[in-house]
Amino acid sequence: MENNILQKDIMYLKGVGEKKALVLKKELNVFTLGDMLYHFPYKYIDKSNYFTINQIASEDVYIQIKGYLVSKEYKKTGKTQRLVYTLEDKTGRVEIVFFKGLSWIDKKLQPKREYTVFGKPTRFQNTYSFIHPDIEESVVYANQTIEEKFSPLYNTTEKMKHSFLNSKALSKIIKEILIETEYRIPETLPQYVLELNRLMPLSKALREIHFPTSNDNLAKARYRLKFEELLILQLGHLFEKGRRIQKSKGFVFSKVGDKFNSFYENNLPFTLTNAQKRVIKEIRNDMRSSHQMNRLLQGDVGSGKTLVALMCMLIAIDNGFQAALLAPTEILSLQHYNSITKLLKGLNVNVALLQGSIKGKARKNVLSNLQEGAIDIIVGTHAILEDTVVFNNLGLAIIDEQHRFGVRQRSKMWEKNKECPPHILVMTATPIPRTLAMTAYGDLDYSIIDELPPGRKPIQTIHLFDRDILKMFSFMHKQIAAGRQIYIVYPLINESEKMEDVKDLMDGYESIVREFPLPQYNISIVHGQMDEQAKDYEMQRFVKGQTQIMVATTVIEVGVDVSNATVMIIENSERFGLSQLHQLRGRVGRGESQSYCILRTKDNISKDARRKIEVMCETNDGFVLAEEDLKMRGPGNISGTEQSGVLDLRIADIIKDEPIVRRARDFAELIFDKDPSITHPDNALLRYQITKQRPITDFSKIS
Ligand code: ADP
Ligand code: MG
Repeated sequence: MENNILQKDIMYLKGVGEKKALVLKKELNVFTLGDMLYHFPYKYIDKSNYFTINQIASEDVYIQIKGYLVSKEYKKTGKTQRLVYTLEDKTGRVEIVFFKGLSWIDKKLQPKREYTVFGKPTRFQNTYSFIHPDIEESVVYANQTIEEKFSPLYNTTEKMKHSFLNSKALSKIIKEILIETEYRIPETLPQYVLELNRLMPLSKALREIHFPTSNDNLAKARYRLKFEELLILQLGHLFEKGRRIQKSKGFVFSKVGDKFNSFYENNLPFTLTNAQKRVIKEIRNDMRSSHQMNRLLQGDVGSGKTLVALMCMLIAIDNGFQAALLAPTEILSLQHYNSITKLLKGLNVNVALLQGSIKGKARKNVLSNLQEGAIDIIVGTHAILEDTVVFNNLGLAIIDEQHRFGVRQRSKMWEKNKECPPHILVMTATPIPRTLAMTAYGDLDYSIIDELPPGRKPIQTIHLFDRDILKMFSFMHKQIAAGRQIYIVYPLINESEKMEDVKDLMDGYESIVREFPLPQYNISIVHGQMDEQAKDYEMQRFVKGQTQIMVATTVIEVGVDVSNATVMIIENSERFGLSQLHQLRGRVGRGESQSYCILRTKDNISKDARRKIEVMCETNDGFVLAEEDLKMRGPGNISGTEQSGVLDLRIADIIKDEPIVRRARDFAELIFDKDPSITHPDNALLRYQITKQRPITDFSKIS
């Protein structure tokens, strides 16, 4: 299969050569004929309608005619020479006129052959003429004319255009490939897959996607290519997951014991939501299955993931294992540590905290207690990942706010138990739309807490313009007078948070200080140019209620829980993405009192920005927003998640093509159920595609 014709270097194609091939490689990642064929048009010009020459009327815009070249003549007016052809069909004659590139055109156009002309006619005396139109000889393909009913338009770059690789040139190259590979494009799907799903054969689909012969055929070609892409992706996930389950033996947590039960009966401060119960059950089933768990737990901000984490850790302890809870920042791990110790009061569970700032003797103590097994639960930052941190018997590692941790860091947790990797639970608040989860994280188990604890007052979201500054100040005064605290967040323009980006924040800070002066008011400020210690200090003052206002860039911690903070003001909110706005808004609304989110924007904003703000004001539902975000920005750009690069789809669109995603998923399951190792001879083509497909997930890369 490897030496099929599609593997041929594009360089050797007629009309390409070394120079252009290099540009194609650099700009489009196109190395072979096959790569080029999979560079699909983004749009088509409808050329389905041919005019006959007697139908041409003077006002016509761009039209298309077909006819034979009957004569050629060089004409001269003053210094300018022109080349004039006469083209004839059954109903009349027109002139085709060229002023430039005459010798090249003279060579290209052959009298007595049939050509298709696309352009704008102009009338001169009694004849129509076309000046520098698109003119192509009708190409013979499989003894038929390739009739360009729709001519394809391709994405190109500036560099490509400089090398004469515009859309039209690409279309020619592709046509050349189709002619060269005629009937020799090997099918990539088994016959039974084609039949059961009524899919167009690959060679036809590739022809139709570039040069459709009808709307219907174009739709079928697209469907085939999308279905295949999604099928292979999802079958690959199932296959990987199957392999992982086979390979990865896990510790068996067979029982739910004293710690869990007495926590449930005596310590649990409220009833679990149904979603929490369901998720704990799912995790519990994984942990007693004898396979290692790799589960992603998604729950909107405030949905109560910490409690789920804690109860799972208690199961680990009941089975004689240690558990670890990792958070991305010191302040978050401290919060987890505090709330967990409080929740476990009287239970005789040893909880310890480990952070970079814990040093010397205190650190030594923690490390030796951990190694001896005197610590049941360790909570901390990535300090836990260091090699000096050795467990006695780690059985479960929970990673909170997953996107702050890199893949490599996570894989380190696998090695923290030499006998067998611990169970892994990754928790995230970033809503991942179902379709995306299905396609992008298909090989991870996935649990969702889709319900907030009862009694939460929905956050009220309000849009204010810059000119509404007085309104905003008076609102802030009222809230502070009522004893509440306020966040004010400024966007970063660059990720790296340069000094110039901090300028907005500094300007804002000054105006806030003027409006809320000492000694009556205290204000915290946090931004990326500060060192960790200073940041922590400012954060702590706010957490403890010593400051009323926190002015920050987005370095403001994910997951920080200050229940007395009831107002989130987001400045220049039009610059944030929906997901990020929702994450920030989730910092408030955690206590009893009504919370507010104020989205401030410039006085004049674009339609898109307005739509974004409106959606925020309409809903608090993270899933709705995530779907909306995906629609507005496309899957590669969702902030805070790692799917960019993970979902590398050529033609399918996981939002618009959701029905195909589902059908492909169902069919993948059907195949997998019958042939989980994908070794049946009928599935050889599928196996080839799955195994050559790049490894996709974090976890599968590790083992
Ligand atoms: P997140 O999922 O964002 O990490 P947390 O675990 O921090 O959410 O929980 C948010 C708040 O909700 C905490 O104060 C927690 O005590 C509370 N909470 C969790 N579960 C419940 C429940 N079932 N009923 C009421 N409150 C709950
Ligand atoms: Mg949390």
